[in-house]
Amino acid sequence: MRGYTDTPVIPGQTWKVHDAARPRPVKVAPGRPLASLPAPGDAEILFDGGSLEKWQMKSRAGEFAPANWKVENGYVEIVSPKGMRWNLVTKEKYGDCQLHLEWMIPAEVNGKGQAGGNSGVELMSRYEVQVLESYENVTYADGQAASIYGQYPPLVNVSPRKGEWNSYDIFFEAPRFEGEKLVKPAVVTVVHNGVLVQHHKEILGPAAHRRTGVYKAHEEEPLSLQDHGHPVRYRNIWVRRVKGE
Ligand code: MG
Repeated sequence: MRGYTDTPVIPGQTWKVHDAARPRPVKVAPGRPLASLPAPGDAEILFDGGSLEKWQMKSRAGEFAPANWKVENGYVEIVSPKGMRWNLVTKEKYGDCQLHLEWMIPAEVNGKGQAGGNSGVELMSRYEVQVLESYENVTYADGQAASIYGQYPPLVNVSPRKGEWNSYDIFFEAPRFEGEKLVKPAVVTVVHNGVLVQHHKEILGPAAHRRTGVYKAHEEEPLSLQDHGHPVRYRNIWVRRVKGE
């Protein structure tokens, strides 16, 4: 899917959600080799290529099960039996944080548009930094790799070829609520393969398809890796909690 013409305008923007006419960000060659940042001393290691003990599966209906994605060769790969779509979520819950992870679309993934190796990093299980093959694969700008899904395209497209690793460094401020009322939206900065692609963006609400999600008050929630039915790989995942005010 290369975009829509019948979706609502994104609040505060002139573009529609998944707007077919929204310009695609210019391509920038990522520096190579990829800097696979070692975890700082105060980071919590979420996945170092070994066990998934910090993780569990969560279904869309909210059921939990032991982590069962495939671990091999230092990475974890999405396993999506019968399109069940159980996300891999952390057992711990997080709010403000610095998150590092690396991801790769295997060379044999050949889907088009949103079927091109779709996954995503879901902060607080709901604010999605998109993961997708975006070197050759074309989709709507607010749904390509490193977009805030349905809200903001990345400033530039730093996607390498399929089969090459990417890194995300994500700096996330959780939304603040007083009772049910939103008093400060979530804010995110994303560095993709060493390049700033989302600069202190105010997230408009939870990720949604063909619309803009609406905030509902919530506490800290797990970090979640999205199962969209494609065998995307992740490695070197670590997080640092950031003390809020
Ligand atoms: Mg996704």
